[in-house]
Amino acid sequence: MIILVISDIHANLTALEAVLEDAPEYDSVWCLGDLVGYGPDPNECIDLLASLPDFQCLIGNHDRAALGLIPLTRFNYDAHQAAAWTQRTLTPTNLTFLEELPETLEKDHFLLAHGSPRNPIWEYILDPFIADRNFTFMQHDYALVGHSHLPLVFSRPSDEEMAVNIPVHPNKEIEMEPHMILNPGSVGQPRDMDHRAAYAILDTDALTWIVHRTDYDIASVQLRILEAGLPERQALRLNAGW
Ligand code: ZN
Repeated sequence: MIILVISDIHANLTALEAVLEDAPEYDSVWCLGDLVGYGPDPNECIDLLASLPDFQCLIGNHDRAALGLIPLTRFNYDAHQAAAWTQRTLTPTNLTFLEELPETLEKDHFLLAHGSPRNPIWEYILDPFIADRNFTFMQHDYALVGHSHLPLVFSRPSDEEMAVNIPVHPNKEIEMEPHMILNPGSVGQPRDMDHRAAYAILDTDALTWIVHRTDYDIASVQLRILEAGLPERQALRLNAGW
């Protein structure tokens, strides 16, 4: 099976549409959470995502905030403002859609979690040290995570070794071996200083992982962010990719 793996869409419809346009053919879509928050198109993104073939999706911390399940004081000022706006803007149908999303999903050898296997909502896996703690906890061969908005791959081939960071380059195939944690990066708010939307293609038969990047019309999203009265910084950061 060919899986389109996406995460952290953050209500950026233009980036999501660009990813769907750019992606090669796929059988199924696995989405690792944070459909909303920060961006101006929460309803439009959920409507489009829900229409995708065999769409499997997790809840992220920003989705939980939009449902009022996390006190907004846990977020920085901008994220707080955006979450309050998202709460007011989501339709009842889309609130229900978010409510029904699970924290983790298990797909054969794969565990899907927004943050990390041991703390699906909040933990960021940013370095081999934190990856190592999670490998010890993991029951599955592979974990797919989002949350950091960075395309990252960590590997720990055996319990005697420390986890290592595998370099990720756009369009370059990574051969998967058991005990890997893989992050496709963010569709709607990349933070690796590359403004292009990120996603990954997972081949579950060949066991390969390829991260792709695609340009999109950032200016149109920035205009909608400002028109909606969302924090200006959320518009500016899209150009720089942070
Ligand atoms: Zn996020």
